[in-house]
Amino acid sequence: MDISRWQHELREVIRAPGELLEKVGLQAEKLALSTPVSDSFPLKAPLSYLKRIRAGVADDPLLRQILPLADEDRDVAGYRTDPLDEITHTTTPGLIRKYPGRVLLITTSVCAIHCRYCFRRHYPYNENSPSRENWTAALDTIRNDSSIYEVILSGGDPLSLSDEKLDTLIQQLETIPHVRWLRIHTRIPVVLPSRMTDKLLQTITRSRFKLTMVIHANHPHEIENEVIETLQRLHQSGMQLLNQSVLLKGVNDQAPVLAELSHRLYTNHVLPYYLHMLDPVAGAAHFEVAEDQARDIHKQLQATLPGYLVPKLVRELPGESSKTLLG
Ligand SMILES: *Cc1c(COP(=O)(O)O)cnc(C)c1O
Ligand code: SF4
Repeated sequence: MDISRWQHELREVIRAPGELLEKVGLQAEKLALSTPVSDSFPLKAPLSYLKRIRAGVADDPLLRQILPLADEDRDVAGYRTDPLDEITHTTTPGLIRKYPGRVLLITTSVCAIHCRYCFRRHYPYNENSPSRENWTAALDTIRNDSSIYEVILSGGDPLSLSDEKLDTLIQQLETIPHVRWLRIHTRIPVVLPSRMTDKLLQTITRSRFKLTMVIHANHPHEIENEVIETLQRLHQSGMQLLNQSVLLKGVNDQAPVLAELSHRLYTNHVLPYYLHMLDPVAGAAHFEVAEDQARDIHKQLQATLPGYLVPKLVRELPGESSKTLLG
């Protein structure tokens, strides 16, 4: 069977730290790398993402998002495997229900990239695997609750599913009359833009749903040539485009960087939505930005950008019925 370019790129992702460093012109001896006790969340990055990393720059903000450093191996108080209590909110396998009106569906465990700060890096995907039975149970739960008007496809990255699987899922959701909006949370337009084929866009946009795609970019260097073309096409397809970022030490913890990100996003039809405080997930403590500093950065953003380009600074607190606004 012919495989498409994106599937090929997904097979060719970089998984070995040595190979990654060679490609970006760095020597492993000069960096303290993680010696993982388990391989549950190994290095993973598409070549198209590596092209945006500057050669020979050890603290490149894009490299930092994917390189497993020895910092990850430290046990830090407060940093947990399930920082958001998602497991207690998973009442049906694969379905996370925290906020009124909307539910989040874990569609797959697969991502095109492994972001070292990911709050689901320890999520028990096995028990919540989006198998046929689990989807049926999740869909039944949604069908039986008419207060749910929006379904959020999440993961993993929902766009790592095949076109056929996505099509089936969307068609099944369409049979539930009270679901009116569909939201897709995905990092793929930014990290593997070749995935955004015309066929995929047709699959998504031919549904009856009011569509929102929330992409995930953290740094202006992530928004370059092919990503820009992709965002233009997404915009032309008529869906609402939003962006969420995570505030990350050594990546985007400076107001001018985030201001530039907002500019690039808006130029390409994407509105900044959330700027998330890091969730305290085990292995990610080296990305933490203190709350005072975060508020300060946010204030600077407010002072330089039009209001509609300032993302909401939020923290997710387990047990709350929405994200908590800071600043
Ligand atoms: C963040 C989140 C949502 C979406 O929240 P919005 O404020 O609507 O973007 C929905 N469900 C869960 C479980 C979430 O974590
Ligand atoms: S793409 Fe999203 S879900 Fe996947 S590793 Fe990155 S942050 Fe986590």
